[in-house]
Amino acid sequence: MRVSPGVIDDLRVVVVGAGFSGLAAASALARAGARVRVLEARDRVGGRVLTHWLPDGTQLDLGAQWIGPTQDRMYALVAEHGLDTFASAAAGASTLLWAGQRRAEPPAEVGRVLDLLDAYASRLDPVAPWRTSGAARWDRTLFGGWLRTTAGDADTADYLGRLLAGGLLATGANEISLLHVLFYLRSGGGTRSLLGMAGSAQQDRIVGGPPALAERMAAALPPGTLRLNAPVYAIGQDAHGVLVRTDTEGVEGDAVVVALAPALAGRIRYDPALPALRDGLTQRMPMGSALKVHAVYPEPFWRADGLSGVATSSVGPLTETVDNSTPTSSRGVLTGFSYGTDAAALRAMSPQRRERSLLDAFATVVGPRAGDPVELIEYDWSADPWTRGCFCGAFTPGAWRSYGPWLRVPVGRVHWAGTETATRWAGYLEGAVRAGERAAAEVLAGERARPARSV
Ligand SMILES: Cc1cc2nc3c(=O)[nH]c(=O)nc-3n(C[C@H](O)[C@H](O)[C@H](O)COP(=O)(O)OP(=O)(O)OC[C@H]3O[C@@H](n4cnc5c(N)ncnc54)[C@H](O)[C@@H]3O)c2cc1C
Repeated sequence: MRVSPGVIDDLRVVVVGAGFSGLAAASALARAGARVRVLEARDRVGGRVLTHWLPDGTQLDLGAQWIGPTQDRMYALVAEHGLDTFASAAAGASTLLWAGQRRAEPPAEVGRVLDLLDAYASRLDPVAPWRTSGAARWDRTLFGGWLRTTAGDADTADYLGRLLAGGLLATGANEISLLHVLFYLRSGGGTRSLLGMAGSAQQDRIVGGPPALAERMAAALPPGTLRLNAPVYAIGQDAHGVLVRTDTEGVEGDAVVVALAPALAGRIRYDPALPALRDGLTQRMPMGSALKVHAVYPEPFWRADGLSGVATSSVGPLTETVDNSTPTSSRGVLTGFSYGTDAAALRAMSPQRRERSLLDAFATVVGPRAGDPVELIEYDWSADPWTRGCFCGAFTPGAWRSYGPWLRVPVGRVHWAGTETATRWAGYLEGAVRAGERAAAEVLAGERARPARSV
């Protein structure tokens, strides 16, 4: 942001949430000279990122982990804060489990439907997808139903439903509209940019994990900016400013940036109440439902069989697996992802049955040795009250046209950030950063336009 420090030196901005979006907003505002307070509910920064370290130093990223080409702000932040990336492990043959059978390649029909989706997505304006010709129909069309009538066979429809509604949005194909899938594809640069490993969104990981970057971004803020263990429960505003309340204090400011997923922003009490359409929006963007599970082995034994550990499956509890081993550890890590109703079914099982079901699914990909891991580690973001599901929030079918226009519109002095409000790489760390920086620019622009401050 090209703003000389000191220009805005009496502007006070409160940022709610110290995920990547809130941290990016706070950094940009502080750099511009504003006095910023960040209020974070948890006892840590970073939000939907969490790295678990095994005693031998193996890095397990339980939340977000990958960045890839065109995610320029994330690569720039990694470099700016003195961190590095390493390439995701993906050498060897990937596995496709198609209707329970191993296949070398997906049928040509998969490529045809992906091309069609990319062609539709390229027509969308990611800033206002509801304005695209055909958007009204796409908004009320369930993605799963569209796949059933468009794909030449039911197996292709099921596979693509799991890969796209599941793998990208962590939901079921019948819980999401075609329009939202197209928006997501457009925002992430299309299916080739979103799916796969090298050359796509899953290309690289951050040495030390994404939390290391969040901690460095927080440490670079002016002293006293960040308050942890400070859940915000109410935001009031009037002609003079905002008052943001936590259990222990009321923080005054000229503006507030709410850097939360809409489902969490909707839990805050606003005074005056939000306009009906903005409040309705927070009720129509539920969080996805993903389980990310790590099975740790003495070594990545599948590599000796020429397997990469990367797999997609059209049936079973796991839609995807990847080799998540790191170059600095001898351990082998297989990470599996379960989405939507499959993840819900796993949650409903006893821990023993869930473990058996997951290990059987890993064994289907890399063989029976997968049944005997050193450890099996999962973290359920749906059970975390400060996230409530992942990877991100997504509009329910039919909601884009009525509520989408309110996604980024400030309500008086209240501005909205969070990855869900991004137009590029929405749902990703990159989208979170871009959304935070956009909200900061919006606050600064509003401040410059204000003729005189009322005190
Ligand atoms: C399992 C998983 C895997 C993922 N994989 C990837 C990936 O590989 N690559 C990628 O780019 N993205 C991935 N994502 C998505 C990515 O994590 C998110 O897009 C991104 O972290 C969102 O950042 P945010 O700042 O918008 O929101 P959040 O990270 O959710 O930050 C919001 C912050 O606000 C805090 N908060 C909530 N309510 C309040 C309140 N009332 N008062 C004060 N504070 C509050 C929360 O504690 C949190 O710190 C993944 C997410 C998950 C969970």
